[in-house]
Amino acid sequence: MSKELQITTEQFIEDLYGSAEAIIYFNVNGKTWKNKPQTYAKAQSKLKYLNSTKDADIYFIPNTGGTKNSQITQINSSFIDWDAGRNSQGNYFPIGIVAQKKQEFLQQIDIFPYRPTYVIETRNGYHVYWFLYPGTTPEQFIIIQKELIKQLNSDPVIHNPARVMRLPGYYACKSGQYSLFFVNIIEHNNVKYPVDIFISHFSLSLQKDNDNSQIVSTSQLPTESTISAHNNTYIKKKKKKNTISIIMGTKPQTSDNEKEIILKTMDEVIDYICRQNIAEYLKLDNYRNISSEGSLSVSCPCHNDTTPSASIYYHEDYCYLKCHSSNCKFGSGTLVKVVEMKNGITEGDAVIKLMEYYNLQIDDSWMKEEKDKYIENIEMISQCKQWKELYPDLYRCINRIKADLSSKILLAKDKIQLRTSQGKSLFFCSLREFERVYRQKTYLENQNRQNERVDRYCLLGLMEKIDENEIPYGLYRRMQVAKGKKRFQYRIQCYHIPEYTTEFLRKADEIAHIAKEKGIKLNSITKNSVRDVFGEDMARKLYPQTDDIKPSGSGAEFLTAVEKVLLDDISLKGYTTTSTVKDRLCGTSTWKQVHDRRVKEHLPGLLEKHKLVEITANKKLKEKYKIDSKGYPKIIMLEQDYNNMKALTENSSDALRLKEIVAA
Ligand SMILES: [Zn+2]
Repeated sequence: MSKELQITTEQFIEDLYGSAEAIIYFNVNGKTWKNKPQTYAKAQSKLKYLNSTKDADIYFIPNTGGTKNSQITQINSSFIDWDAGRNSQGNYFPIGIVAQKKQEFLQQIDIFPYRPTYVIETRNGYHVYWFLYPGTTPEQFIIIQKELIKQLNSDPVIHNPARVMRLPGYYACKSGQYSLFFVNIIEHNNVKYPVDIFISHFSLSLQKDNDNSQIVSTSQLPTESTISAHNNTYIKKKKKKNTISIIMGTKPQTSDNEKEIILKTMDEVIDYICRQNIAEYLKLDNYRNISSEGSLSVSCPCHNDTTPSASIYYHEDYCYLKCHSSNCKFGSGTLVKVVEMKNGITEGDAVIKLMEYYNLQIDDSWMKEEKDKYIENIEMISQCKQWKELYPDLYRCINRIKADLSSKILLAKDKIQLRTSQGKSLFFCSLREFERVYRQKTYLENQNRQNERVDRYCLLGLMEKIDENEIPYGLYRRMQVAKGKKRFQYRIQCYHIPEYTTEFLRKADEIAHIAKEKGIKLNSITKNSVRDVFGEDMARKLYPQTDDIKPSGSGAEFLTAVEKVLLDDISLKGYTTTSTVKDRLCGTSTWKQVHDRRVKEHLPGLLEKHKLVEITANKKLKEKYKIDSKGYPKIIMLEQDYNNMKALTENSSDALRLKEIVAA
């Protein structure tokens, strides 16, 4: 498999050291090139040679200054080395288990309050970097490293300033009993952190460990045990009653606010917060003057503002602040952004602070129920042999790809983030990710034929695609962020998987039956065939990203042409074939080249509309229609004619009568 780096080693080096000309200490097979620290440009060809022909492992020192801790003069980044671990014999886990653990770790990273600057994949885990602004001391570096190790449960020895790490863009050669693994950059975010932010974070959390007073940081990181929940629920777990926010001051004292507000997910929390009146939060006297129509002129809370240069207003139920000053970086945003900018903290911390302020709690018990349903679904699929008699058509559609379907439900189980007010739990995923999980690979370039499979499940109702308009704001935004990440690329979509009750499977069987009857091939479901057979609503459900479910201008013209040729030919000869229709269309000036597939796509709908059938011509039919081709071609004829034929052959042994009919 070819793996193309979108981000080169050169760019990584330049970002990390702040210059492409930086002098770097490289390390080959655990030995430092002590006397020849050099630029990457100079070392590159030698390193590539050693790596590719001598199976040498290539490392480097991310910080600047030397090879001993005491020689390090500049800290460039904090980083961790996270590893999926080994079994009791000290060997790596099988690749499938590693893939699962890796997936879980990436979810932890996704919810970690600080987005990493780089994520680099290794055979058994990840190296994650958070680049730091210059000025970080080695002592501060050690504090941060140790805290990261604790928070993310990574390799405990990775905290010395002169630490060597694997250089991305090279093969790991001696990774145990396994073959070469290409150490690849899988994520890059254009972020860098001032050391104070990390340090204040960690020292606050350390203070809490030592001091059992009621002062709890609102911006404290999740602890190792709670973060393993793989979702946003850590916020709920770390919250304690009667805590005092040291940053926000005291909580509002109205009786309303003393009651906890229980919400189901992080997305609901963000939605709730974005609806709150920003002026009220800022304790402005005239906060009531904002309505859905009127805005309020205020002094901007995010810059030193003497003349009111900002306004607060509502738009589609969300409250926004917009600063009109050119000296202000704020622009416009919701309360989350106001708190983020005003206090110079991260978005995640702003949300946590606002949760405390409004006394919001997350109740995720629904998630467990939902996960139980998924486990039952998988159980159902595993017993799919029993469907053979109960739901024969569904069985035919699913049996051969049941492992693929199960892998999707397993993935959904880990990925669900939110339940809508209609009770639908949602998750998003890319087709490539589906394929990757199904194949139990850590990395895959292509989605293979996942679009066909997903369309099949969705037609049967086993999965449901969610229209972008129905996705709650928070989830939608995260989906947009994910679309920018390399590992999520390729057709990202939001889905819901329903509970597979017996009633539900009966319905799926019915759809499978209709599809079979109408000649819809399940490995090539198209928008047109679904619309023609099942109607526009179903087509819209299957293709929510398509604006126009009706055939487009030229599409509609083509459909009309197919219809005309088809009916003309049948009325002329009593039957027709797809290749005849195709040939006739090819002769026209509008379509020089027409493929069978394009005609076949419209067939199910036209057969339905004009009560036609497509059947394999037997000897009698060939006689009747004077078809002289070899073999038994597929022909299209009126259902009525076909039924008459069948009735004759079945009910009557009277050869004479048959002769009459055929002659007629
Ligand atoms: Zn401003």
